[in-house]
Amino acid sequence: MQLLDGKYVSEKLKQEITAEAAAVLATRGRQPHLVAILVGNDGGSETYVASKMKNCQKVGFKSTLIRYDNSVSEEELLNKIEEINQDTEVDGLIVQLPLPKHIDPEKVTEKIDYRKDVDGFHPINLGRMMRNLPCFIPATPYGILLMLKEYKIETSGLHCVVIGRSNIVGSPMSILMARDAKPGNCTVTLTHSKTRNLNEIVRSADIIIAAIGKKNFITVDMVKEGAVVIDVGINREVSTETKSGYKLYGDVDFKNVAQKCSWITPVPGGVGLMTIVGLLKNTLASAKKEIYS
Ligand code: NAD
Repeated sequence: MQLLDGKYVSEKLKQEITAEAAAVLATRGRQPHLVAILVGNDGGSETYVASKMKNCQKVGFKSTLIRYDNSVSEEELLNKIEEINQDTEVDGLIVQLPLPKHIDPEKVTEKIDYRKDVDGFHPINLGRMMRNLPCFIPATPYGILLMLKEYKIETSGLHCVVIGRSNIVGSPMSILMARDAKPGNCTVTLTHSKTRNLNEIVRSADIIIAAIGKKNFITVDMVKEGAVVIDVGINREVSTETKSGYKLYGDVDFKNVAQKCSWITPVPGGVGLMTIVGLLKNTLASAKKEIYS
């Protein structure tokens, strides 16, 4: 087994992004700028947003965090999004999910100007992705593609099984892996909670992409010898072993699956770090007006 090392790849790509951000500053007179909106104080969301902001600073982007209490109204949030849409000094805008129940995530997603939608969740970006047109690709699937590319993992003609059909990971991932591109050209099976014979289907996979949200869900008996395993899952458990007070686990039983597969992403240290790179690359592309003018 060889490791698909998110730490190594993300650091390498962040160096490239840093150089490009400096060039943007030199030519446009300002840094690429990402704004994040965080509602409430969910522990996971706090950590993800803090890491996104920290990484922006690392690569020479400006970053702004706007926080609201859980009690913020949908209207107030939508008005703020509109204000940021109009701000010519902002290149990217993300709203950290999940949102409180009284706020419709669809309304929020659609309110963000698709030209600043660096999370790639807006229907225009998803539609353009479907048609293989330039767009912001959702950050996690984008990060996975960058990882596969970096390690020159052959995907053409192979059977890729995606587990989980969320709008932010599983569904776009399945489309991207089937596209006529490199990485891509897979025969894709998209599976979910209602899939019958899941174990059998996963066992037939050359490439497994697990985005379920259940610790150690993919066990060694579900994995074909030599498969490539991408573990998207982030499952937080309270722990006395770590300084932060919790420990992260993937959706894959890493210890046992690692003995059987050809390549595997660790958790932590895999897809999560690449998601940030996907977000940074989208923000940079927005600042450079590479996708939308
Ligand atoms: P989700 O939580 O919205 O949905 C889970 C998916 O798993 C659903 O589509 C469901 O059909 C499927 N599922 C549930 N039980 C199943 C079963 N028994 N058999 C087959 N499929 C089953 O999905 P999400 O938002 O993509 O999140 C999935 C995991 O990925 C979570 O752990 C999340 O924290 C993590 N995640 C990680 C990153 C990252 O950067 N690494 C980014 C996004 C999400």
